[in-house]
Amino acid sequence: MSSQFRIGYGYDAHRFAEGRRLILCGVEIPYERGLAGHSDADVAAHALTDALLGALALGDIGGMFPDTDERFRGADSIELLKQAFALPAFRAWKISNADLTIVAQRPKIFPFTGAMRTRIASALGIGTDQVSIKGKTTEGMGFCGRGEGVEAYAAVLLERK
Ligand code: MG
Repeated sequence: MSSQFRIGYGYDAHRFAEGRRLILCGVEIPYERGLAGHSDADVAAHALTDALLGALALGDIGGMFPDTDERFRGADSIELLKQAFALPAFRAWKISNADLTIVAQRPKIFPFTGAMRTRIASALGIGTDQVSIKGKTTEGMGFCGRGEGVEAYAAVLLERK
């Protein structure tokens, strides 16, 4: 790895379920349903973790925190994100910026993006100006548009220290 920069890209999707809390980027959002998953199902934190791991070709979140492992049942995905970024391979790198898009027809994401940026920045030890979070709908198209679930996309740029 001789390059000065590495880019990472992550994607995740989770299905809505009754009786679950809705957690996105570590922020609980008041809504009638939450997301199904082995952990807290924070789809956005998962996409960002995959982007970080992908930047250094370290595999993915499912490999690092298997959903067959009882230790990760109900896990706080911000803690998983921190654990991934604490891998020794990241010691030579700093995060230049991270950019996330959360796709949900409902609820509205925008009112929570400030709190989400603060949570992610603090988890990764970077500034809020290095974290971008955008909410999108799909104008009713596809599984997000029908309210079946939430998708998240994340890109991250690492710069050698
Ligand atoms: Mg996931």
